[in-house]
Parts: sequence; C-alpha cells; structure tokens
Amino acid sequence: MSDLRDLYQEVILDHNRAPRNFGKLENANREAEGHNPLCGDRVRVSLHVEGDRIEGIAFQGSGCAISTASASLMTEALKGRTVEEARRLFHGFHDLLTAGGDADGLGKLAVFAGVREYPIRIKCATLAWHAVQAALDQQDHPVSTE
Ligand code: ZN
Repeated sequence: MSDLRDLYQEVILDHNRAPRNFGKLENANREAEGHNPLCGDRVRVSLHVEGDRIEGIAFQGSGCAISTASASLMTEALKGRTVEEARRLFHGFHDLLTAGGDADGLGKLAVFAGVREYPIRIKCATLAWHAVQAALDQQDHPVSTE
C-alpha cells in the first residue's frame, strides 16, 4: 500500500509542478471563480461548452499543491465529457473524499483518496470542482467553500 501511496504522491507533485490546461480558454463560454479562505487557494475555471459537451476547459489561479494538482487532474478528467458525466464524476470524487466511497470509474482522480485523512485539505481538493459546478450552473458570482 505504501508503494501506491508514493505513486499517488508523485502524480500530485507532478501536476503541481507542471499543471495541465493552465491558462485562460480563448473561446470560453462559461467561467467561475472559487476561493478557499482556509488555505488561501484561488482558482478560476473557464469552459467551452458545446451542446451538452465540455469541449475545452482550463484553469488559472494559485494555491497549495493539492488544490493546483486537483484542478489540473480535473481538467484532464473533464475534457470531452458531457455535463452529465462531469456531475457524476464530481459526486464520485466528493464521495471518495468525504464518504469513504471507492475510486471505481474515477481513473487518475483516485490519487486524492489519501486526502480524506486530512479533512482540512478536502476543501483544497474540491475547490476547482465547485467552481466548475458553478460555471456549469452559470452562476456568475464567485463561489466559496465556506
Ligand atoms: Zn489548499
């Protein structure tokens, strides 16, 4: 199990060092911002939604390694998905972190399973996801984890 833990940690560190889909999407038609005051994490997500599919997604912001890596892995997980699939993934991810749910169907997002042992970090890991939910719901005010 410790090998797996090291691998998970390696993936998180890698995505923190070199975040994927970092920046602003030129043709974005949905945007939202998230803020986690407990840790100081800020994230702004921009999406290009065509019909019911997320054709493009990117994020900007600054925060701790967990929040940055989570946003990065999230963009990889959501690109090309339907809005419905995105919501299902978010619920699965949220369950994994808060309700001891299993990682079935979550792919690389499973690397965050260890975060559930650190309740204060759960908000770091879910911040970008909350922002995406807000963007998909087209709320134009900033979201907060508080
Ligand atoms: Zn954080």
